[in-house]
Amino acid sequence: MKRIAIICREDKASYRLKDIILRELKNDMIYDEEHPDLVISVGGDGTMLSCIHKYINQLDSVYFVGLHTGTLGFYTDYRKEEYMELIEGIKSDKGTVLERYLLKVHYGDKESLALNEVRIENNVHSLVLDVFIDEEHLETFRGNGLCVSTDSGSTAYNRSLGGAIIYPGVKLMQLSEIAGIHHNAYRSLDSSLILDDRHKICVHSLNFSNAILGIDNEVHELKDINQLEIEVSDKCARFIQFKPLSFIKRVKRAFIK
Ligand code: NAP
Ligand code: MN
Repeated sequence: MKRIAIICREDKASYRLKDIILRELKNDMIYDEEHPDLVISVGGDGTMLSCIHKYINQLDSVYFVGLHTGTLGFYTDYRKEEYMELIEGIKSDKGTVLERYLLKVHYGDKESLALNEVRIENNVHSLVLDVFIDEEHLETFRGNGLCVSTDSGSTAYNRSLGGAIIYPGVKLMQLSEIAGIHHNAYRSLDSSLILDDRHKICVHSLNFSNAILGIDNEVHELKDINQLEIEVSDKCARFIQFKPLSFIKRVKRAFIK
């Protein structure tokens, strides 16, 4: 029998849906938050990000599916009123798998994975960052920071920075500037740069003090660190889809009308 976990946003509507799903599936599954085969995220895209990080060490054995309690998101295939459809999908056990590649960031002696993006940010004073692509110097960036996004994260922070939206499943990373300073003394690319999975981005700084390392919905300190390396990981988060869903429709619904 399938082991299922339901992780929900801390609001009434999400808890209510969790109870309903548990009731509807009680004869078809075992509830197991420690070692699930399937994780159901109930909430928003942010809730799905928390799910991925909660099970980051079990990505090889877990599938993810999302139910949205607000508007339709990018990691959630069902709206709240469609919960019965999701339950039928789970019972049918006939889904297709979408592998979403992650980014790997290496800093000091630590390594983390990101589904949306990795951000180096400082709102206190401008950062001076030397950016290398495969050991080759590209630029000395000055500004609030840099964002390296996945295909999946391209519709999130990356999009607010003017980065391109990427169709899901393309294995790449996109480097975008966060409020870069451009005038006759300081120059950096001032446009997004897309690299495939053969490349590595290295960001070097003499002083990361007050800067934060943002990894999806998490924030880490950069004390005593002066270098970060970012590349596409061979690890992926496996999303199960029980019905075909058009990405273009999602983009249109989210950003156009
Ligand atoms: P949050 O502040 O609630 O998220 C900001 C918005 O981003 C929410 O509407 C969230 O959707 C949406 N979002 C998350 N992943 C997305 C994706 N892949 N495509 C399209 N929209 C997405 O914080 P959070 O919910 O913990 O999510 C963290 C993420 O928020 C970060 O990874 C970053 O990409 C994004 N963010 C964006 C900005 C910005 O655009 N200026 C600023 C901060 C953070 P839900 O409401 O469904 O959760
Ligand atoms: Mn959110």
